[in-house]
Amino acid sequence: MNLLRFLPTGIELTYLVAVSLFIIGIKKLGSPATARLGNVWAAVGMLLAVVATLLQQQVLNYGQILLGLVIGSLVGAWMAYRVEMTAMPQMVGLLNGLGGAASVLIAGGEFWRSTLSGTPLAPAALISTLLGVLIGGVTFTGSLLAFAKLQGWVTGNPVILPLQRWLTAGLAVTTLGASIFLLTAPLNLAVFAGMLALSLLFGVLFVLPIGGADMPVVISLLNSFSGLAAAATGFIVLNDALVVSGALVGASGLILTQIMCKAMNRSLNNVLFGAFTATQSITAGAGGTVAGAIRRTDEGETAMMLAYARSVVIVPGYGMAVAQAQHSLRELADALEQRGVAVKYAIHPVAGRMPGHMNVLLAEANVPYTQLYDMEAINPELERTDVALVVGANDVVNPAARHDKNSPIYGMPILEVDKAQRTVVIKRGMSRGYAGVENELFYKDRTAMLFGSAREVIAQLLNEVKQLA
Ligand code: NDP
Repeated sequence: MNLLRFLPTGIELTYLVAVSLFIIGIKKLGSPATARLGNVWAAVGMLLAVVATLLQQQVLNYGQILLGLVIGSLVGAWMAYRVEMTAMPQMVGLLNGLGGAASVLIAGGEFWRSTLSGTPLAPAALISTLLGVLIGGVTFTGSLLAFAKLQGWVTGNPVILPLQRWLTAGLAVTTLGASIFLLTAPLNLAVFAGMLALSLLFGVLFVLPIGGADMPVVISLLNSFSGLAAAATGFIVLNDALVVSGALVGASGLILTQIMCKAMNRSLNNVLFGAFTATQSITAGAGGTVAGAIRRTDEGETAMMLAYARSVVIVPGYGMAVAQAQHSLRELADALEQRGVAVKYAIHPVAGRMPGHMNVLLAEANVPYTQLYDMEAINPELERTDVALVVGANDVVNPAARHDKNSPIYGMPILEVDKAQRTVVIKRGMSRGYAGVENELFYKDRTAMLFGSAREVIAQLLNEVKQLA
């Protein structure tokens, strides 16, 4: 017996190294200190996987592959260069959609080839092909609609069509029925095309009733779907690296979805179907009004307050990202520390528009990781904090989440800055946050509002602090 045939080939070994690098890379992404390196490890893994695939004998035309590679790289580099940090969710949405489309094309091509040759696919390949088309189709149209919603091309609020619940259920049953039929009639191109059309329609109906602050959760779920579709495609083209990397994307997307739901104190079921029952779905403009007057402050007064404080907790939010104020914020924190003030940053898990948004921006400004505190760690300290400086955050510091059962953000854990000795909120005006609700914090006795765009206000604060003896 020739045992040598059980040894892995060079290509298989390279795939093994590549997927190991993916896994190590993902592990390193878990901490801000190692995230950059994790990205590099995973990118090297991907390079190895691509090169190994290109060296396989099945490649028919290197010219076409090179052309695709050049065009894809140019478009990708241009998009990555142009996209604003605040537009990351829609960019990820678009890329998920393209992943889904690629799976549909590969699975569809395989089915078509089998019908042209009159040779049905083997059962395992057929099941993978159907899964690739189903999941890929839903991911493609669902992600494109999510992109359009986040980009503001269509309304960002949940949309419910008449009889939509029944329509969606009927569509799901018909699509499932068509798939089972195709298992018995694997050369029926017409039913296959019908199933593809239904899965595309299903993607639209799936995302249509979701809106507002729930959209990034859906993007993460669709990201997971695109991984599953890729894994199915891996089984079709018999590529181990694609199966494993697709499964990794599928699993990590699902974990991220779960983390985001937990941070917003929502169940996935409520995010996906909340609009049908109209319970606790966060939609723009749903918030009420708050009675009372606000107290305004200016840069001079705030600079004094900060400079003579013993402890300051900075709470960054979406407004800091919009204003790109992270660099001047770090300079202000440095100046305060030089005066002996203890400065900490409080990071809410859903501050900004994507998980880790604030961590990325603050890391970009070289804020030491040791100064960043999670919500659970900083909340007990806020009562003893002299000044809480809120920079462009709104929903994540809204006390209504604690007690107002009618508020759409009720139940979401918040950073309890209203318990600090003094709170200063930097924002441009009185507009509401992402969830569209009024913020009671702005009307509290111990809160002062410092109006202006975060970058300019913080630069001015820095000047004032430096002038103090
Ligand atoms: P919000 O979106 O609630 O509020 C941001 C505030 O920033 C606005 O009220 C705005 O007020 C202010 N702002 C905008 N531009 C500027 C500027 N140039 N300078 C100063 N202030 C500015 O932000 P949060 O970070 O508090 O909350 C994030 C929201 O996003 C939550 O509702 C969360 O659930 C949601 N979300 C986040 C996800 C994530 O993964 N991070 C995922 C899903 C949802 P004004 O216009 O008056 O200046």
